[in-house]
Amino acid sequence: MGKLDGKVALVTGGTRGIGFAVAQAFLAEGASVAISSRDKAKGEEALQRLGGGERAEFFAGDATKRVDVDEVVDATVRRFGPLDILVNNAGGIRTIGLATELTDEAWTDTIDLNLSSAFWATRRALPHMLEKGWGRVINMSSLEGKVGLPMISPYCAAKHALVGFTKSIAKEVGRAGITANVLCPGYIPETDLAQEIGAEIAPSLGLGGVEDLAAMFAAQSATGKCPTLADCTGAAVLLASDEGQSITGVALSIDGGIAPF
Ligand code: NDP
Repeated sequence: MGKLDGKVALVTGGTRGIGFAVAQAFLAEGASVAISSRDKAKGEEALQRLGGGERAEFFAGDATKRVDVDEVVDATVRRFGPLDILVNNAGGIRTIGLATELTDEAWTDTIDLNLSSAFWATRRALPHMLEKGWGRVINMSSLEGKVGLPMISPYCAAKHALVGFTKSIAKEVGRAGITANVLCPGYIPETDLAQEIGAEIAPSLGLGGVEDLAAMFAAQSATGKCPTLADCTGAAVLLASDEGQSITGVALSIDGGIAPF
């Protein structure tokens, strides 16, 4: 028996990286899982790799557009029934630069991708959970939702705000059987994002490349290691399951102890 048997989940940005791994883990625990991202071709390919059969579906949508976010939630409900679990995972670093150099567009774009998208999807999904009297909202923040890093201030701002948003939601819907938590992973070298963005950020921090960046984060940690995708999926399954019913309003660091708060 799976921990999520019969549950309906939506994982935004689920075609690769952390979102894909979470979708895989939820499927393995018995849930029906919708994943979303902008690119239909990549989405169909990810769906094949997921191998969830009738319990998996892909819906295209841009997380920076409210109408798309609403439609992805609605399409999930039409396909599988009322939503039980929402993972607001779509996000990323879109601009690297000093705050003095940032345009309004760069700021808004990153805020929309990492913060507004989670608000829009949560607003659309919660009525289904409230009707059921059961629900799970899991937002994907970051170590940068707890500490600052130079050159990515819009990302840090959005990820910090996502923590606050989640804590408020937890208080609003806790009595209705719904939990809301936020994961704060550190640098996960095995992900594409970490490799791509890491290569861009490393020089601005005076580092040679992604290996140096991983070594820097490992050195800052208590464990001496960077976190893994499996660390994230384990936490997501716990928060999504019945066993997570008393864990809410938590910003859970998955960073080897860099930000143990
Ligand atoms: P990836 O870049 O590997 O994957 C991001 C996913 O989101 C893809 O499926 C991508 O598909 C989708 N996506 C990107 N932009 C949009 C958009 N505008 N609308 C809809 N979907 C979109 O990221 P990760 O798996 O590494 O990261 C996932 C989350 O975890 C992010 O919120 C990130 O900030 C956070 N995080 C990651 C860490 C890491 O080390 N990797 C560490 C800490 C936090 P497509 O491009 O086709 O749309």
